[in-house]
Amino acid sequence: MPPEVDHPGAATTDESTVRAAGPASGGSAVPPGGRVVVLTGPSGVGKSTVVRRLRRDHPELWVSVSVTTRHPRPGERDGREYHFVDGARFDDLVADGELIEWAYFAGNRYGTPRTPVRARLAAGMPVLLEIDLQGARQIRASMPDAVQVFLAPPSWDELERRLIGRGTEAPDVVDRRLAAARIELAAESEFDISIDNLDVDLVCTRLLDLLGLHP
Ligand code: ADP
Ligand code: 5GP
Repeated sequence: MPPEVDHPGAATTDESTVRAAGPASGGSAVPPGGRVVVLTGPSGVGKSTVVRRLRRDHPELWVSVSVTTRHPRPGERDGREYHFVDGARFDDLVADGELIEWAYFAGNRYGTPRTPVRARLAAGMPVLLEIDLQGARQIRASMPDAVQVFLAPPSWDELERRLIGRGTEAPDVVDRRLAAARIELAAESEFDISIDNLDVDLVCTRLLDLLGLHP
C-alpha cells in the first residue's frame, strides 16, 4: 500500500481539520445503552500501552478497533490494533456513513467503525474508544454522555522521551506528532477527567472504574 498523501494541516489538530473531517451525514446516532469512555492524549503518552494492558487483563472489555490508512508497525496485526486499509477503502467507509467519527492525524486517516460500537452499546456493554482530539470533539457532539478522558504525560520531556524511545517513527513523523501533541495538551481542559500516565496499572484501574467494570 503506498503511503497516504499528506493532507494540509494533517500534523495539526486545529479547527479547520476538525471541520474537514467528521462523520458522514445520514448515519444515525449510536443508540444509548452501555457507557462510552473516550481515551485521548498526545502521541507517545502511553494510550496503546494502557489499552494493551486492559485487553490482556480484562478480556471482557471491548475496545473499538479503528480503521486507519497508516502502515502497520512491527508487531501490529490487522484486525487487532487496527483495520489497515488503503485510501480508497477509507473513502468508501466515509461515503457509506460507516464511521462514527474520523480525522486526519500526522498524515494518515483514522476512524471508528459504527456497526460494532452500535452492537456493543445495544447489548448494554461498555465501549472504550482510543481516538485523537479531533475524534474526541466529534464524539462530544454526537454522544454527549460519553465520558471524555485525557491521558497526560508527567512532563513534556518525558513525552518526547517516550515517543522517540518507542522508535517506531522517522524523525520527521516524530516532529509532526510532537507538533500535534502541543495542540492536544492545550486542549486538556476540554476533557471531563485527566489522568497522568505515571503508572500504567493505576491508569487501567481508573479506566475500568469509569467503564463500570471491576478492576
Ligand atoms: P501512544 O499509544 O499514546 O502513542 P505508546 O503506548 O505507544 O503511546 O507508548 C509510548 C512509549 O511510552 C512506549 O515505549 C511505552 O512502552 C512507553 N510508556 C507507556 N506508558 C508508560 C509509563 N507509564 N511509564 C513509562 N513508559 C511508558
Ligand atoms: P497511532 O498512529 O499512534 O496508532 O495513532 C495516532 C493517533 O490516532 C492517536 O492519537 C490515536 O488515538 C488516534 N486514533 C486512533 N484511532 C482513531 C480513530 O478511530 N479516530 C480518531 N479520530 N483518532 C484515532
